[in-house]
Amino acid sequence: MAFDIDMIKKVYAQYGERIAAARKAVDRPLTLTEKILYTHLWDGNATQRYERGASYVDFAPDRVAMQDATAQMALLQFMQAGRPRVAVPSTVHCDHLIRAKEGAEKDLAVATTESKEVFDFLASVSNKYGIGFWKPGAGIIHQVVLENYAFPGGMMIGTDSHTVNAGGLGMLAIGVGGADACDVMAGLPWELKFPKLIGVKLTGKLNGWTAPKDVILKVAGILTVKGGTGCIVEYFGEGAKSMSCTGKGTICNMGAEIGATTSTFGYDESMERYLRATNRADVADAANAVKEHLTADPEVYANPEQYFDQVIEINLSELEPHLNGPFTPDLATPVSKMKEEAEKNGWPLKVEWGLIGSCTNSSYEDLSRAASVARQAVEKGLVTKAEFGINPGSEQVRYTAERDGLLDTFTDLDATIFTNACGPCIGMWARVGAEKAEKNTIVHSFNRNFAKRADGNPNTYAFVASPELVAAIAISGDLSFNPITDTLVNDKGESVRLDPPSGDELPQKGFDVEDAGYQAPAQDGSSVVVAVSPTSDRLQLLDPFPAWEGTDINGLKLLIKAKGKCTTDHISMAGPWLKYRGHLDNISNNLLIGAVNFFNDKTDSVKNQLTNEYGPVPATQRDYKAAGIGSIVVGDENYGEGSSREHAAMEPRHLGVRAVLVKSFARIHETNLKKQGMLALTFVNKDDYTKILEDDTIDIIGLTEFAPGKPLTLVLHHADGSEERFEANHSYNDQQIGWFRAGGALNIIRRGQAS
Ligand code: SF4
Repeated sequence: MAFDIDMIKKVYAQYGERIAAARKAVDRPLTLTEKILYTHLWDGNATQRYERGASYVDFAPDRVAMQDATAQMALLQFMQAGRPRVAVPSTVHCDHLIRAKEGAEKDLAVATTESKEVFDFLASVSNKYGIGFWKPGAGIIHQVVLENYAFPGGMMIGTDSHTVNAGGLGMLAIGVGGADACDVMAGLPWELKFPKLIGVKLTGKLNGWTAPKDVILKVAGILTVKGGTGCIVEYFGEGAKSMSCTGKGTICNMGAEIGATTSTFGYDESMERYLRATNRADVADAANAVKEHLTADPEVYANPEQYFDQVIEINLSELEPHLNGPFTPDLATPVSKMKEEAEKNGWPLKVEWGLIGSCTNSSYEDLSRAASVARQAVEKGLVTKAEFGINPGSEQVRYTAERDGLLDTFTDLDATIFTNACGPCIGMWARVGAEKAEKNTIVHSFNRNFAKRADGNPNTYAFVASPELVAAIAISGDLSFNPITDTLVNDKGESVRLDPPSGDELPQKGFDVEDAGYQAPAQDGSSVVVAVSPTSDRLQLLDPFPAWEGTDINGLKLLIKAKGKCTTDHISMAGPWLKYRGHLDNISNNLLIGAVNFFNDKTDSVKNQLTNEYGPVPATQRDYKAAGIGSIVVGDENYGEGSSREHAAMEPRHLGVRAVLVKSFARIHETNLKKQGMLALTFVNKDDYTKILEDDTIDIIGLTEFAPGKPLTLVLHHADGSEERFEANHSYNDQQIGWFRAGGALNIIRRGQAS
C-alpha cells in the first residue's frame, strides 16, 4: 500500500527550477496553485505564461484514484487502450456499492455477495495492470487517499468529484471522468483549461460549536453551486494554519459543491502532524526540505487582490455554525436563523435521522468531536429523539475509534455503525419506510443533499452540517435547535445545555489497524485473466463508438428540454442504478429519468415524435435509435453539475443522442461529453432556449468547418413548418475536435496504440 516516496522526491526535485522558470514567465510572485500547476506541466517546460480561464494546458498528474462505481467504466475503457500496465501509480477503492441497512458486519457480507462479480472484476483488472486495490470495507476513497497517498504539492486526478478532498494535504486533486483517468493511466497527458483563482483568506480561529465544515458551508452560501466553476480555490491566512489537516480536507471536499475545479491549502504544521501520524514521516521530511515551494510566495498572501481573480475573507472567530439545505448545498442558514427560516419555508422541524460520515466528515477528529456531544447526552440523561447512523471513513479510523471507545459512545445512543463506505451518501441507504415518500427532515455531515440523494425519497429534506452539530440536532430531534443558546429537558425534567464539542485532532495513542484492506497488484500481471461473462447484467465489455459521418447532422429529434437543475444524478441516477455502472446498455435505462421535462413539468415523461405519445425518456430514445434517428438534449444552467460520472455522457452517446445544448455546463460533464464524441454546445443567446419547441426537428450546421472559437448554427424545424436559426457556442480546442471526429477520445488512443 506504500505511497511512492521516490516518486514524491522526484516531484520535489523539479520544484526549484520549474518554479523559478514559471515566476519569470508570469513575471510576478506565484500562488501555490500556480506553483503546483507549473511544476506539473506535461512537457516540463514552465517558461510559457498561460492565460487563466482561457489556455488549454497538458498536465502530468502524479496519481490516479478510482472508486468502484466509476472504476468499472474507467477500467473497461483502459482495457481497450491496449497498454500492459498503468503508467502512473493508481488505486481502486470499493466504497460505493455497499448498502447501509443493518450495520457494518451484515451489510458488508451482503455487498460482497451481491456485487461479487464486480469486486472480482475490479480486483483482477487491478492485479493485471499494476493498480493498488482497496477491498470493500477498507474505507471511503478520499479518506483512504488522504491517509495513504496525498502529499503536499502533488497533483492527482480521480474518477470522483470529491477527489478534491486531498487538497487538505496541499495537493491539487481533481475529479475527472473515467475517460480522463484512462488517458493518464495509458501514459498520455491530461488536459485542463488553466483555471482562474479564488483566494479565501481565513482570519481568526474556530471556536465553540463552529467547525471547518462551517467554513465551506459559508463559502457555498457566498459563491453558490456555480460560483467556483473554472476556478481553483486557495485558502490561506492564520485561520487556515489553525485548522487540522482533515478539517482542511472537509473544506476542500465540498469545493465540489461550488463547482470549483479543486481547492487547496499551503503546507503547514497540521499537515506535517498528519503525515507523521499516518506513518509518512519520510514524506513530511521531504516536504519540509522544499517548504518554501509548498505555499504561495509571501507577496501573494500580503496582497491577495493583486494575485487572485476573486478574494473572499472569512473571520473564523465570528463564524456561526451553519445548516445548508434542503435540496441544494448552497442554501446556507446560520443555526441561529434556522427556526425562522424553517417556519417561513415549511421545512419539517422534527428530525428523523442524524447521519455522520461520508468522505467529507469521517476522520478521527470528526468522530471524536461528535462523540463528545453524544457522550454528554448519555451523561446528562437526555433521550435521543432522532436515529443515528455512523459511517467511519476508513478501517484505520474505525479500528482506532473503536479502540478509543468512540464507537461505544455512539452505540450507547443506539446508533447504527455502518460500513466504512459511502452508504447513505450515495443513495445506498435501505431506509425503512422511505418508499412511502413522506415529508421528513434528516441532518447529515455529508456534502450533497439533492432530492432523493440519501434515501430515494423526494420528500426527504436533507440538511448538511458539521458532525458535531448533526449530533446535537439529532439528540434534540429539532431542526431549529441551537446548541449555543437552547437547552434540552433531561429524564429528570431538568433543563440542560450541551457544552461545545471537544476532540482530538489525531488519536492520542496513534492510529492502529489490523487489516487496512489493501491488496497489492502482481509484479507481472501479464498472465492474469480478466473474465467478463457475456451474459452478465453487471458488466459489459465496450464496443468503440462510431466516428463522425463527416457531414452536418440533420434531422435530430428533441429528446427532452430539461427544466431547471439537471445534475448528473438527474441524468444518470445513482441508488439502485449503481449496480449497472459496468454495463453500459443496462444503465442506459436510467437516462435522464430524473430530469424535469419543460413542457409538462414531469420527470421521465417525454413526447415520442414517432408515435406522438408520452413515454419514459430511455424508451423514447431507444425508439429513435431503432429508427436510425439521432436526437438532441436541451438543458438549462450548469447542466451536469454534481459528479464526474461519465455514464451521464456515455449513456446518451450509446443510445444515439448526438448533441447536448444548454445555457451552461458544469466543467467535468462538458469534458466527459467531448471525450465520448458528443457535441456539447451552449446557447450564444440564452433566450434562444425558449425557441425550442416540443415537436422540433433540429439540424446542426457548420461541422465540416468545426474549429475552435467558431460557433455552430442550429436550425429548428417547428411542427407548423416554420423555421428558426440561432448560433451555439462550443469550447472545443483542436484536440477535442479530433475526439469528436474520431467518435471519441478512446478511438484515438487505440489508434495510437495500433500504429
Ligand atoms: Fe462516497 Fe458520498 Fe464521498 Fe461520493 S460524496 S465519495 S458517495 S461519501
